[in-house]
Amino acid sequence: MGEFELIRRFFASAACAAGGEGIALGIGDDCALLQLPPGEQLAISTDTLVAGVHFPQQADPFFLGQRALAVSASDLAAMGAKPVAFTLALTLPDARPDWLDGFARGLCAMARDCGIGLVGGDTTRGPLSLTLTVFGRVPAGLALTRAGARPGDLLCVGGSLGDGAGALPLVLGEMQDSGADAEYLLQRYWAPQPQLALGQALRGRATAALDISDGLLADCGHIARASGVALLVEAEKLPLSPALERLFPSEFARKCALAGGDDYRLAFTLPAAELAAVQAQWPEVAVIGRVEAGQGVHLLDAAGVELQPPALGYQHFGSQGD
Ligand code: ADP
Ligand code: MG
Repeated sequence: MGEFELIRRFFASAACAAGGEGIALGIGDDCALLQLPPGEQLAISTDTLVAGVHFPQQADPFFLGQRALAVSASDLAAMGAKPVAFTLALTLPDARPDWLDGFARGLCAMARDCGIGLVGGDTTRGPLSLTLTVFGRVPAGLALTRAGARPGDLLCVGGSLGDGAGALPLVLGEMQDSGADAEYLLQRYWAPQPQLALGQALRGRATAALDISDGLLADCGHIARASGVALLVEAEKLPLSPALERLFPSEFARKCALAGGDDYRLAFTLPAAELAAVQAQWPEVAVIGRVEAGQGVHLLDAAGVELQPPALGYQHFGSQGD
């Protein structure tokens, strides 16, 4: 199968490449064309996933397609942007139709959930890696950045933390379990649901936001730095899923929530006056701390005494990890 046949068969004719709102021209020309309503800005984010680094070489292609797009769309959620389109740069060791078919179906399943269309890409031969670029739209000036947190704001998250890290031993085959709790964690890992509606609802309400990909404490550090404030995280308030709590000792579950990556929940700072309205629509939103003057991220126990944080989240080229 040649490059053009592959593109046509698995991507250009896929359900998620059929166009949609904001897509003036899709796959097939030298560029795609996007049409933004007047007064809106384009939000753009790129992520690369490399086999053996970000996912196991033998990962199920359907799950991989789903997860790759979810991870990228989560960045749009974090900015309060509405998804429009994405591109896919795919590097493959060989063109296996069964693999490509599963991958494209997984990708399209997540694209449908997110309301986003495939508008282009590139296809090359080499070690398996995926680069997705997502495009979203947001009213000018209303994007949620990491830079607006203010002393007095509450620190909130969009739901349970630690499920992604809890799933890792299962994903890597270090632990075998076919029960419902393990199934739930695997679902959270392979099909994270980007919090797109929550992100858009937080526009004009939250003062800063991001999605948790590298671990709560590490990611909160980004808000603290960008906003020039201190973030206080109360260890007792972290929302843990019942599945995570049942499968693992509480110390490990807590560590997953604080330092594990791959949750793709939103973390955001919110003036207290906004909380009731947000929780009325998203009861799973939890207050886990607050913003104060100062700098850095501080983990506190129930009595307000500062705790030593567990090892920070994953960093490529960092002093830990790799
Ligand atoms: P060019 O040579 O102009 O860069 P290509 O031959 O690489 O174009 O691709 C032809 C068309 O197919 C383009 O519209 C491109 O965006 C699209 N395309 C290539 N690879 C993919 C892919 N993996 N997924 C979606 N679209 C793709
Ligand atoms: Mg090309």
